[in-house]
Amino acid sequence: MSLAARFSCLHDHDPEALSVDQARRFIHSQLRPVRAHERLALRSALGRVLARDVVAPFNVPAHDNSAMDGYAVRHAELSTRGATRLRVVGTVLAGQTFAGKPGVGQCVRIMTGALPPAGTDTVVIQEIVHVDGDSVLIPAGQRPGQNIRLAGEDLAAGQPALAAGRLIRPAELGLLASLGCAEVSVHRRLRVAFFSTGDELCSVGTPLADGEVYDSNRYTLFGMLARIGCEVLDLGVVRDDPGSLEAAFREAAAAADVVITSGGVSVGEADFVKGLMAQLGEVLFWKIAMKPGRPMAFGRIGGAAAADADGHSAWLFGLPGNPVAVMATFYQFVRDALYLLMGAEPLPVVPLLPAVCTVAIRKSPGRTEFQRGVLARVDGEWCVRPVGAQGSGILRSMSDANCFIVLEHDRGPVAAGDSVNVQVFDGLL
Ligand code: AMP
Ligand code: MG
Repeated sequence: MSLAARFSCLHDHDPEALSVDQARRFIHSQLRPVRAHERLALRSALGRVLARDVVAPFNVPAHDNSAMDGYAVRHAELSTRGATRLRVVGTVLAGQTFAGKPGVGQCVRIMTGALPPAGTDTVVIQEIVHVDGDSVLIPAGQRPGQNIRLAGEDLAAGQPALAAGRLIRPAELGLLASLGCAEVSVHRRLRVAFFSTGDELCSVGTPLADGEVYDSNRYTLFGMLARIGCEVLDLGVVRDDPGSLEAAFREAAAAADVVITSGGVSVGEADFVKGLMAQLGEVLFWKIAMKPGRPMAFGRIGGAAAADADGHSAWLFGLPGNPVAVMATFYQFVRDALYLLMGAEPLPVVPLLPAVCTVAIRKSPGRTEFQRGVLARVDGEWCVRPVGAQGSGILRSMSDANCFIVLEHDRGPVAAGDSVNVQVFDGLL
């Protein structure tokens, strides 16, 4: 079934007014992870997605061990009423086993990570113990088994420690190392090609002519893609003419899993791009009910639908031209799509968190707005206000902000003091 047919099956989807959620759901429903895997040395796997389940080959920790510095005792020997005097017959350090077995009335000094000597079952922390020559006085009130980490407490042998689909972050690197994994199987990196369209664009390194603007989108795109760990292919600035655009689309689609463009999808420009897209693939042109970022194209180029088909096709995200709209649409649609193609399951979520909006914001129901905000703690409460200028061309608003203020589709005006949801840039950008 064609992409357009699948899209129109979802009968309430109007390409002229698609909600952010509808667009996101449709995109997700179409994508499947890349199949190719590779084995990498552990450190190189940071930021990649596990391609296979990792099963714990042994218990973690492998043995019972002390969680604290203190004294290893037999709980049954302790008095419930007053202090118990025990003779210290030795010391056991982390990584050592205590030779011998403490007898009745005896205990062993134990360090964090050390194995409790035979017969002992409880560790009493040194801070509460009174030392008296070669004896110690243990106060009453100790719980049996306290301060001992049990073998297999983190992971039991044979249990899946990490499932395929898990994004490898520093915690996962450490966990994999704790299982002795020197190599892991991960999905291969995504190849993402991108270019900017527009006759007014000038690349950095070239003097600006009258009426030109520097192409900033390729730099934000590069940064956003690099953070996600994609292999990037920067195809530069492409003029608004059919021949150059067609060549750029063909080159990008042949080389990449995903093609991202900016500009050329707004009314007026879109007509001519639409014609081209119809020849090269299958692309849907949407007017999404969002601000910034209304026009957006999504589809596939290359492959069976293209004239020089070799079977390979690439997903296309045609983002708007305005610099802030590029970032907003990237984070609301492309980021998740890339993680999905990378095989991430679950997708790394960036939560929406409530904050008090300190100023009124004009907003009408019927579209989702992503205002750029500054979130700060004021008198013990998280408060947010929009940064000054919110124009979709004003990239400084993204740089000055530390969060998106997400004003939901059905939401009306915001009064000062209202709660709003924010999406913090840390973890997103
Ligand atoms: P468009 O979507 O192509 O109509 O572009 C909308 C606005 O964004 C215009 O003011 C463009 O000059 C600007 N713009 C488009 N592409 C870029 C880019 N790569 N870098 C900076 N500004 C851009
Ligand atoms: Mg343009």
